[in-house]
Amino acid sequence: MAKQPMLKFVTVARDMPEKRGADERRADFHEIYAEFAAEKAKEQASRCSQCGVPYCQSHCPLHNNIPDWLNLTATGRLQEAYEVSQATNTFPEICGRICPQDRLCEGNCVIEQSGHGTVTIGAVEKYITDTAWEEGWVKPVKPAQERPESVGIIGAGPGGLAAADMLRRAGVQVTVYDRYDRAGGLMTYGIPGFKLEKDVVMRRNDQLAAGGVSFVMNCNVGEDIPFDDIRAKHDAVLIATGVYQSRDLGGPGAGAAGIVKALDYLTASNRAANFGDSVPEFDSGELNAAGKKVVVIGGGDTAMDCVRTAIRQGAESVKCLYRRDRANMPGSQREVQNAEEEGVQFEWLTAPKGFTEKDGKVAGVMVQKMRLGAPDATGRQSPEAIEGADYLEDADLVITALGFEPEDLPKLWGVDGLDVTRWGTIRADFTTGKTSLDGVFAVGDIVRGASLVVWAIRDGRDASEAILDYLNQPAAVAAE
Ligand SMILES: Cc1cc2nc3c(=O)[nH]c(=O)nc-3n(C[C@H](O)[C@H](O)[C@H](O)COP(=O)(O)OP(=O)(O)OC[C@H]3O[C@@H](n4cnc5c(N)ncnc54)[C@H](O)[C@@H]3O)c2cc1C
Ligand code: SF4
Repeated sequence: MAKQPMLKFVTVARDMPEKRGADERRADFHEIYAEFAAEKAKEQASRCSQCGVPYCQSHCPLHNNIPDWLNLTATGRLQEAYEVSQATNTFPEICGRICPQDRLCEGNCVIEQSGHGTVTIGAVEKYITDTAWEEGWVKPVKPAQERPESVGIIGAGPGGLAAADMLRRAGVQVTVYDRYDRAGGLMTYGIPGFKLEKDVVMRRNDQLAAGGVSFVMNCNVGEDIPFDDIRAKHDAVLIATGVYQSRDLGGPGAGAAGIVKALDYLTASNRAANFGDSVPEFDSGELNAAGKKVVVIGGGDTAMDCVRTAIRQGAESVKCLYRRDRANMPGSQREVQNAEEEGVQFEWLTAPKGFTEKDGKVAGVMVQKMRLGAPDATGRQSPEAIEGADYLEDADLVITALGFEPEDLPKLWGVDGLDVTRWGTIRADFTTGKTSLDGVFAVGDIVRGASLVVWAIRDGRDASEAILDYLNQPAAVAAE
């Protein structure tokens, strides 16, 4: 009888790829995890219990066929594992690196629930597709037949690119417009290199271009080209512009120099450290933490990326203020642990009340101590101030990471009839991406609010199907 290759979770312990030591990590912007060696990937994949009803798969936004590609990896059929993996995911190696697996696939792995430690799904997913790239199995799209219709996609983030890929596979002519000089959206300029190295994103952009996707970069829709022109030029339009408006802080001194927005800070760092671009605000020190006492305000993943970037830039000290406690923070616990190992200090249950200034520049944060009070309507305990427990935290650079809101697109673009929700996100059907305008679809953060790369990919793939249905309607062809 053939030897059972799977269900090894009883005898094989969970193991992650090697993590570089904190001292080494602090000195560069490279990813912190090494790649699995081939034997290790096989061994870890073989821990899967091959559940009849795989909860990992149902909790993956892309419903990746995880048990099958784990089995194929465990049995050495890596090229088939890659084929299965890429059939449901446009960027498997990116999701393997940056999905919050503890909240998605791995958090719902049955062997995790039974106390054996989850299968390291993300690390195996990354290994499969990184190997596919090395082996030359990842090829540019070659549609069986070209179609005459064209689709204009506004926004080259994961939502727009996932749709571009799927539409090109169907032979549709695709043009992607983006206001940045490089495609990738937040994967390029938001997420730091120590979580996602930039050549991983750039090779995907190159591959899409090689497959026939046209990119029009440095093109701010609404400014450089009117939205209506894009609509007139293409048979359908997809809006995938993300959310970029930072929530602001109030209080005395909130406008002082040296108080900067998380995304400005991270973009400057990504440009300077990962692409070697000349960034005047970085070179002048305005967006550079080197030698400074840095305070980051916020408890989400963006705040975690800021604190860890500041450490790598050589800050004198890095503190993170968050108004709830560790258990109630929105950011991933894995990232907090990484940040602590690298030397970040967390000040839980604290909130800024205002800022002190010296010579027109921020000099400190007036910190209000908080406690968790009664739960609110969502069941989450609300933070409340403890009177008389304020203190002053010295700071030369304050980075605010309080979340993002959508820009007012109908106003910015002068478009009538594009409905938005009361949060300012575009009102679109969640499965098709259809908006209130005929032939206009929307996906990703601009529909969901700040979310995840994997959800943007899912939306982009779903919308591409709806766009194809739209293009296939006799009315759409007749209208040409
Ligand atoms: C700092 C940070 C860290 C994150 N870390 C993670 C993580 O670890 N894991 C994870 O899953 N998610 C993470 N996210 C969230 C994730 O990056 C987003 O959910 C995802 O990128 C959304 O994809 P999108 O395609 O909707 O938009 P985006 O990635 O934001 O792309 C939108 C694109 O549209 C372009 N654009 C906007 N307006 C215009 C216009 N008028 N004209 C032309 N182009 C325009 C922008 O330049 C951009 O390239 C992080 C986000 C941030 C900010
Ligand atoms: S895409 Fe994300 S959630 Fe889905 S299997 Fe991969 S790491 Fe898990």
